[in-house]
Amino acid sequence: MNKIILIKYGELTTKKANRNQFINLLDTNIKNSLKNYNIKITKNRVRMFIEVLNEEDFEIIINKLSKIFGIHSIVIANKTDNNIDNIKKEVLKITKEKNFNTFKIETKRSNKNFPIKSMEFNKELGGLILKNIPNIKVDVHNPELLIKVEIRDNDTYIYNEEIKGSGGYPVGVAGKGLLMLSGGIDSPVAGYLAMKRGIKIDCLYFESPPHTSEMAKNKVKELVKKLSNYESNIKLHIINFTNIQENIYKNINPDYMITIMRRMMYRISEKIMNKYNYLVLINGESIGQVASQTLNSMRVINNVTNIPVIRPVACLDKLEIIDIAKKIDTYETSILPYEDCCTIFLPKHPVINPKLEKCIEYETKFNYEILIEDAINNMETIDINNEKSKYNF
Ligand code: ATP
Ligand code: MG
Repeated sequence: MNKIILIKYGELTTKKANRNQFINLLDTNIKNSLKNYNIKITKNRVRMFIEVLNEEDFEIIINKLSKIFGIHSIVIANKTDNNIDNIKKEVLKITKEKNFNTFKIETKRSNKNFPIKSMEFNKELGGLILKNIPNIKVDVHNPELLIKVEIRDNDTYIYNEEIKGSGGYPVGVAGKGLLMLSGGIDSPVAGYLAMKRGIKIDCLYFESPPHTSEMAKNKVKELVKKLSNYESNIKLHIINFTNIQENIYKNINPDYMITIMRRMMYRISEKIMNKYNYLVLINGESIGQVASQTLNSMRVINNVTNIPVIRPVACLDKLEIIDIAKKIDTYETSILPYEDCCTIFLPKHPVINPKLEKCIEYETKFNYEILIEDAINNMETIDINNEKSKYNF
């Protein structure tokens, strides 16, 4: 088979100094994602080439590649050597398979030893096509069929279709972050957007059994699986939050329960981040969406820590978040009706403008530090890729 997949790098080509690191990481991520397929990868500073050794895998591989960050576009090209007659034969073969009225040839000759200049070669190939296919015309401005011919050092690549890649940076290039993942719509989207910027994520889920069910936990695992389409080594940390939550319920003024609960979540997240060297905390907070996400609430909640927190969906409308959730296939799982620990003790009037002094005062009512230590010592960590089971909902 002379078909080959050609990868055009995303934004990374603008980052000159880090270029090799970017390309090597992209290479590793692609190999991880395609580890069950028989392929051969070669790469240089501008392109990556993937030979698919079993033709029947082609479509699945293209689909997997379309989810890998750091890829601008994916091209299926016909490959030939740099012999002029062979290139002509290949160009003619591709054009004869297509249905079109107007066309254009675009040659890029990065191999300057190739004896014909790009413009001249365009004309030669154009003439050849006009001679062999009836009733067609050249249109350099708006052609129905654009054939690209890339003449490189050892080979020539001929193609006309480019599939859009996911863009962004290769996952991992920005370092490691911790995503607070609930079963809702927002946090998986936040995780996806963080990965797109090159952050390698693991997830943290707070559960409150028996108030939250095994099904709610499975839902979160399923969401991690969906996010694993974009990066295959995501771990899920699970914190048992029951004791803390029950103490909040017993001791805290109902209006402040959610505020205090979220302060506890941030405290625990910070400790986990320090223990495992995560650089940033990521969550699905969106400004104004609920009482705990007013700017005032966010400030009072965030006050327990200095760790950097990013909120990728902070400035998106719910509908915009839903659009992304649908695109990344987390939406249907997110709307399954299982309770979250945030919703089970939901007070009637959660405070919209919490006061920091009040939080501090309320928090003296129980010894949360011991409970936090205990929760972290009992944290469970799951490697989702090794979980064979399918979750039934
Ligand atoms: P989502 O749709 O992501 O559940 P939400 O609108 O329901 O968000 P909240 O419940 O207030 O908002 O939670 C805000 C953010 O806090 C979530 O997006 C998530 O990042 C984090 N969070 C909430 N509950 C949990 C939980 N049980 N475990 C881990 N993180 C959580
Ligand atoms: Mg939620």
